[in-house]
Amino acid sequence: MYQTTTHLCELKHCGKPCEHTTICHDHITELESELAAFHPEELNRLIAIARGQERPSDQTNRSNGKGSKLGPSDVLSLPTLQLANNIRKEWPQLLPYLAIHPRAAKLYWTIKSGCETARIKINGLYPDHRDPAYQEAMRSVRYPMKAGELIKHMQDTYNVRITQSQLRKWTQRGKLQPIEVEGSNHHLYNPKQVLELL
Ligand SMILES: [Zn+2]
Repeated sequence: MYQTTTHLCELKHCGKPCEHTTICHDHITELESELAAFHPEELNRLIAIARGQERPSDQTNRSNGKGSKLGPSDVLSLPTLQLANNIRKEWPQLLPYLAIHPRAAKLYWTIKSGCETARIKINGLYPDHRDPAYQEAMRSVRYPMKAGELIKHMQDTYNVRITQSQLRKWTQRGKLQPIEVEGSNHHLYNPKQVLELL
């Protein structure tokens, strides 16, 4: 079939002509080096955090002396384990096919934000609060959303699948308290609430 327009890279911040692929190869190279930058020890640490085995060495100092029994600060077992597996295996295996994948742009952002989330988790016990990526992650994990938006966000950002009926059940059982926002009569939730229920 004859095409009158040149296909452009489907990543909006790029938009360069790329005739034979969905997104440019440059972005694949970029993801490749981001994934390769995770040291095996860092991934082991991520898995340990996911399993609740990891504790900061100076926790007593940080918790005003009463925290000797505190667990890790942020245990999100299932999504964190999945994230470690994605970074170690799934995403590197996907890269050779990613440029021509029909959903390449979306997958690009899934991998980017996954790497960012992992970085925050690995360094999370000693976060750099001035780091814009950290601030953005903290903002987005607490941002109230309608059920539909939340379901999409959980899938896109954390690769976690939840359903409307699951949300409804959690709410009915009082496990999940909708967030009240002035001027909105929708039930709103934030990703943090859901991550803590998994
Ligand atoms: Zn591009």
